Amino acid sequence: MTNNARRTSGLSRRKVKSKTSGSLKKTRHDRSLRKIQPKGKNKKIYAKSPFNNLLTKVGIIFGVILVFYLIFIFEFPANYPDKFNISNITLDSNKISMQIETDSYKGKLIPLDILLTIGKGEITLIGEKETTIIFSNNKKVILTEGSRKIKIDGKTEKLNAPVVKYKEVVLVPGELAETLFPKSAKFNNGEIAFILSDSKPEGDYLDFSDYDGYLRLVNKENPLTKNYEPTDLTNVNSLDSIIAYGTNTKLRNEAANALADMYKENDVHYAMSSGFRTFENQTELFKNEVADNVKAGQTEEQATINAGTVVAFPGTSEHQLGLAVDVAIPGVVLTEEFKNTPAGKWLDNNSYKYGFVLRYTKEQTAITNIIFEPWHFRYIGYPHSEILFKEGIVFDTYIDTLRTQKVKYYQAEDGNDYIIWLLSGSLIPEKLNFNTSNGIGASSDNGDGIILTMRTQS
Ligand SMILES: [Zn+2]
Repeated sequence: MTNNARRTSGLSRRKVKSKTSGSLKKTRHDRSLRKIQPKGKNKKIYAKSPFNNLLTKVGIIFGVILVFYLIFIFEFPANYPDKFNISNITLDSNKISMQIETDSYKGKLIPLDILLTIGKGEITLIGEKETTIIFSNNKKVILTEGSRKIKIDGKTEKLNAPVVKYKEVVLVPGELAETLFPKSAKFNNGEIAFILSDSKPEGDYLDFSDYDGYLRLVNKENPLTKNYEPTDLTNVNSLDSIIAYGTNTKLRNEAANALADMYKENDVHYAMSSGFRTFENQTELFKNEVADNVKAGQTEEQATINAGTVVAFPGTSEHQLGLAVDVAIPGVVLTEEFKNTPAGKWLDNNSYKYGFVLRYTKEQTAITNIIFEPWHFRYIGYPHSEILFKEGIVFDTYIDTLRTQKVKYYQAEDGNDYIIWLLSGSLIPEKLNFNTSNGIGASSDNGDGIILTMRTQS
């Protein structure tokens, strides 16, 4: 075939066929094939040679080396893991460390989410296979799925594992963390650790197994089970500070202490009218409200619907968490008038400093589906309480946003920066140890997520 003929047949075979007769083409083709067929004695030459020739042997060895080199350069398709999990997370007041397990590239991979969260990385471009990320230290990283070649500020680095995916989790070589953050990241045999601050850790570790915490969202969509009861209830009246009256005088320990501190540190007086309530307590309250509505002439159905806007349906009350407080002053008990009292005003503007939020505001009734309750405060811990107060976010929306965005960075009034990170799906660890103080730590979101709150040095 001439160059012209090859070009024509390569681009549009049909055209050639229609112009040239099939038989003519075939004859030409056959003739050229016959030309290269070895005949007679020549066959022997092909049978003996070329393996006896030393030069040819060397040539073959070089050829094989070249092929392996080319395979090395272009790589085999990456080996995707069948198993991946985080076996352990330890959260200290100054450090977070995670033990990662994968079956392929054992001890070499970490989830990209870790780098994005701790390194404040923003994905700026997603190509077909390439992802561009800018980190807080302005380093620009380009990752290519299936490849161990990673571009950092335009320079290609070849790392010891490729970028691969496991279900929804993107896994990257762990040494990338150390390459990007040599001062704060350490990676060794599947264990990644980030120093969050230079300050010394305080307090003891808690072995945390059920991911209970202060950020459980309780509403109609996120109810508690009938049997839910916190294990660290404290009687508020034992704290020698604010007085609790009635029968529901308990709160979870940290919330009780925060309430006592808040009471001690200002001149406004008030009391706690209701704290922790069991599922049964709540059922009774709800039934009473329905009965009152029926007495007032409503049908059973109307009475139940209307009761739901005033008294939470059993399982949907924050009081069952042991983290909700109803506050009262003499003569003003559970009425809207509370907002105009000195206590109501002071609590509305200052309770966030102690980890509390006014949970059911007037502006947000469309989201909460609960009437304005200026007396009901919910403990969620600092800095979350400050975020809600300053940014005007209702707790329901806050948790829903975290469930979608997974991570939030916040510069707080206390001078610290915080990373708030919701882990879900494959990122939930088998075991979580953390050091709690003042809301720092881990909490269930009351869905399938765990929210980590980490303080970093600003
Ligand atoms: Zn309440």
